[in-house]
Amino acid sequence: MPIPSVPGDPAGTSEAGQARPATIVVVGSANADLLARADVHPAPGETVLGRDLAVLPGGKGANQAVAAARLGAAVAFVGAVGDDEFADAATSGLRDAGVGLEALSSAGGSTGIAVVTVAADGENSIVVIPGANATVDAALVRRHAGLVGGAAVVVVQGEIPRDGIEEAARLAAGRLVVNLAPVIPVDLTVLRRADPLVVNEHEALAAWGLLDRDVDGDVDGEVDGESGARAGAAGAPEAEIVVRLRALGVPSVVLTLGARGALVGLGDDVVHVPSPRVEAVDTTGAGDAFVGALACALAGGAGLVDAARFAARVGAFAVRGSGAQPSYPWEVDDLP
Ligand code: ATP
Repeated sequence: MPIPSVPGDPAGTSEAGQARPATIVVVGSANADLLARADVHPAPGETVLGRDLAVLPGGKGANQAVAAARLGAAVAFVGAVGDDEFADAATSGLRDAGVGLEALSSAGGSTGIAVVTVAADGENSIVVIPGANATVDAALVRRHAGLVGGAAVVVVQGEIPRDGIEEAARLAAGRLVVNLAPVIPVDLTVLRRADPLVVNEHEALAAWGLLDRDVDGDVDGEVDGESGARAGAAGAPEAEIVVRLRALGVPSVVLTLGARGALVGLGDDVVHVPSPRVEAVDTTGAGDAFVGALACALAGGAGLVDAARFAARVGAFAVRGSGAQPSYPWEVDDLP
């Protein structure tokens, strides 16, 4: 399969060292990940002995920006860190990948933190403390209206306040990639502009519930996987979930399926894109690697199915290594 062409050089600068306009703008979270490895996850009320601890750059927004930039896209990041000892850890990966940080604000208080436990089987559990990410609201995003409005691809996720996401979606004149993770009750115009909406099955069911209740005129209440179940989505085949989301007004949908790859819903078609078989060491940040790579390929002009094929290879690459950003590829030649 041909690898989609990607715009820009990894540093996001011209040969003369001049900063170039970002093709991709990621509006989102930056965290320091405190990554503990243990044989098993502790059950509620239980303590288990861990093996080691690492402090790594993370946050869904930063992860996605790094994934895209490492693959060659010119990327800028709109977000915030605190003024504590974790700010450097949160932004080191962005700096190393050459992501433009002109729109990174330094709020007082704490940087976002994710406490991640990875068990021997590669599965993770995560507690996120938003910290400065909670300041990435509509007012902050509006300060960077030119940057967001000028991007070919704008990427948002659910780890910042909903009005920050909504403002980014409103300002985006290019293609809007919405990763509804974690699920938050955004204004439905965001989902109806998502091209694509990138979700795993749990998030897809929640989005289904959210859109379905809107059709019923009931837009209040909690939004979670259960709301999709209430809408009649429980047990629905994955392809039907994609079709339903499209029918409810989402322009295109990418449903990620872990080791099985992804489903792409576009027009009347649902296309299965397989993931290469790899030995999973740590699935942390695989979804973000997928989203960043997808944005990279879309910004380079690839169609959505080709972009998802490329993203599945990048997601598979990411599960072979520990952590989120440290496990992302720098070279397309290295992909499985
Ligand atoms: P996370 O929240 O853990 O980052 P996610 O639920 O958002 O993940 P997944 O569907 O688990 O997203 O993974 C995203 C993509 O990464 C998949 O579509 C697939 O291409 C790749 N991937 C994930 N796990 C594996 C695996 N075990 N083997 C191969 N590829 C994988």
